[in-house]
Amino acid sequence: MIKVVKFGGSSVASATQFKKVKNIIDSDKDRIFIVTSACGKSGNEDHKVTDLLYLCHAHIKYGVPFDDLFNMIYDKYMGIKKDLNLEIDLEKEFKIIRDLMDKDISLDYLVSRGEYLTAKCLAEYLNGQFIDASEVIAFNYNGEINFEKSEQNLISKIKNGRRIVIPGFYGALPNGTIKVMSRGGSDISGSILANIVNADVYENWTDVSGLLIADPRIVSNPKTINYITYSELRELSYMGANVLHDDAIFPVSQKNIPINIRNTNKPEHPGTMILNDCSKQDAIEPPHFITGISGKKNFSVITINKFQISNEVGGLRKALQVFEDFKVSIESVPSGVDSFSIVVETEAIEKVVYEIIAKLKKDLDCDNITVIDKMALIAVVGRSMRNKPGMSGLLFGELGANNINIRIINQAADEIDIIIGVENKDFEKTIRCIYDKFITRSDSL
Ligand code: ASP
Repeated sequence: MIKVVKFGGSSVASATQFKKVKNIIDSDKDRIFIVTSACGKSGNEDHKVTDLLYLCHAHIKYGVPFDDLFNMIYDKYMGIKKDLNLEIDLEKEFKIIRDLMDKDISLDYLVSRGEYLTAKCLAEYLNGQFIDASEVIAFNYNGEINFEKSEQNLISKIKNGRRIVIPGFYGALPNGTIKVMSRGGSDISGSILANIVNADVYENWTDVSGLLIADPRIVSNPKTINYITYSELRELSYMGANVLHDDAIFPVSQKNIPINIRNTNKPEHPGTMILNDCSKQDAIEPPHFITGISGKKNFSVITINKFQISNEVGGLRKALQVFEDFKVSIESVPSGVDSFSIVVETEAIEKVVYEIIAKLKKDLDCDNITVIDKMALIAVVGRSMRNKPGMSGLLFGELGANNINIRIINQAADEIDIIIGVENKDFEKTIRCIYDKFITRSDSL
């Protein structure tokens, strides 16, 4: 079995965390490929190394002294080296970076040094082989990953018998220049690696025991999601549930490789398994009606009224065009006979709302336009809802019984999620009601 194992910043934030990582690696010989983030925060007063590196670059750009910041990073790694008795020549590594900072250091090169140094320390500590991500992860000039080239690169670097430790978050362009991914990109590096080595599983170790059914700041002690499909995860994370970088899904789902979200601080917890298809697991342990609930506040609903607009060819297109012209992304478009509404994030229209209304009035020649703010959208996601008559009845009945007014309802044809819109003030209450009905009291369904 081949496992690709990625550790997030909190898993390598201190020498104590490094020791936990070593126990996890030593306990399973299949954990062969290890990807690491840069050291994260080890406490409230601490800072993520990547944040400090971005800050250093901003200081360089504006000609502001940055040595205090740089020394914070230096001290962090020196502390880890000392506590773990490592031999790595960090003074030399830091001198190379510091010298370049007085010249023309690129942002990507500088911020990639967090992962680079962390992986170097971790490789020594685990007695593994360090392979630089710039020599493996190959970008095309257009920013896409070249999987074939990355695979060839990796094969040419592996020496037999040892675990491989690779920094996450960056790779190199065809000319060798370092390029970083977007923030949180080590998840993507792990996923790319899992793809190119055809891993049996991609373990993503973080500081939570998998995905929770609902946000723990809203529902107290929500249960963990044991199994979830990639499509369900997409729906939940689009609506705000974040444990994994969005771009980490495609490289593994394409090859049917499961992702297992695990907690470095609770390695005995099985965490969450993300799969293309959960039907085998569902046959053994039938899942709840709903897999998860997530949501976001602060949407605006712009409703356009015009007599017989439904019969008018092109009316909707004209309205959508206005939003496109203002580069506003649309969440959903519920419609009636003489009206339709456009739901967008309030932040996206705040500065241009009057211009948008004026343009809509002009282009659609409509009777009336209203804007309602302070709306929240909640996604109720579950593969078990598919083909289950009465599911939405149960949901709406429960919210009605709790005096919650539903302003928007949206269900896509694949039936794995129902999106409802309520007022911001009802947001938390709605999530608690749904959790209570479908999880806590699920036996009564
Ligand atoms: N260190 C990078 C960041 O903080 C990448 C990562 O941790 O995945 O965004």
